[in-house]
This record gives sequence, C-alpha cells and structure tokens, in this order.
Amino acid sequence: MRRLNRPQCPNPVALRTNYKHPENKEALQNASHGKCMYCESQVSHVYFGDVEHIRPKAQGKFPQLKFEWSNLGYCCARCNNSKNDEFDDACPLVDPYSEDPNEHLLAFGPLLRHKAGSERGALTIITVDLNRPELIERRGIRINELQNAIDACYRTASDTVRQVLLAALDQEGSGSKEFSMFAATLIAANR
Ligand SMILES: [Zn+2]
Repeated sequence: MRRLNRPQCPNPVALRTNYKHPENKEALQNASHGKCMYCESQVSHVYFGDVEHIRPKAQGKFPQLKFEWSNLGYCCARCNNSKNDEFDDACPLVDPYSEDPNEHLLAFGPLLRHKAGSERGALTIITVDLNRPELIERRGIRINELQNAIDACYRTASDTVRQVLLAALDQEGSGSKEFSMFAATLIAANR
C-alpha cells in the first residue's frame, strides 16, 4: 500500500446521486495510477475496479457517507469483496488517501507485515486479506524480476556505471508501478 493524494472531485453535482459517476471514478483511478488502493494490483480491463466505500455504506453502518468524496477510493474487486462491510471506527483500516501506510505496514519479501504494535496495520492485512496466495505469488514474480535486474547492475566493475544503472531502477519503486511498496523495499536494501 502506498500513500495516495486524493484528487479534487471533478463532478460534485453527480456525486450527490451517483457515487460511482464515470468522471469521478476516473479521477480516483488516475490518482492511484490505475491500481487498487489496498493491494496495489493493476486493475485490468478484464477485472473491473470498483469505487470503494472506505467506511461501508451498508444499512446501519455509515449510510450518511455513501456520497461523501472523502469516503471513496479505487479498489479491486477482490479487496472490495474481502473487506465487505467490515469497519470499526475504534480501530479503522489504514487509509492511504489520508495517511502514510508506511507507519503501519512494511514489505517483508513477498509478504505484507504490520509494524510492531500497529493493531490497525494487523487488522487491515487480515480484513482485506492482503496476503492471499495470488498476491504473494505475483509479488514474488515482481521481486525475482527486480532481483535479476539488480544483479545485472552489479556485474559491471565500474562504480559509476553501477550507480547509473541502479538509479535507473529506482523508478521501479515509484508509486505508478504495480506492487511498488515491495519493489522500493528491495531496491533500498540493495543501494
Ligand atoms: Zn486490491
């Protein structure tokens, strides 16, 4: 999970009656580079993204927040299903639009871990099922590819060339890339 900047709502009038109006959905999609706000999967055209209610809209939960822009995010169908209507204001899930996930979560190989003492981090991982097998497998593939690229940087005898090659790899850890939290951690450990 990476920190996201919430965009301005492009169409506040439509938001009043349609929380997933295409114009507003697109703004949320662009803000997370087309990735799920929770698992960082690139949401493909085959696998539609949803407008997610951070605090659930279900009856009796937070119905007043159904059309509230600050309560909406862009999310893959798997995370949306896992999370369902779980949300406890006493221990809220980590919200990448309003806080830095690094304060609660860390990448450990292909696994997502909570930081020591972070109950919110631990609850988020369990509730959204952020270590489901499919995610571990895809993160592992990404890590292996990156490890090969890093190894290639170390084949040169020139420090200067190595630094240039490693710097070029830095973008693999930028927020626009899939599973960038895991890539950035691996890159930082090899600099
Ligand atoms: Zn997801």
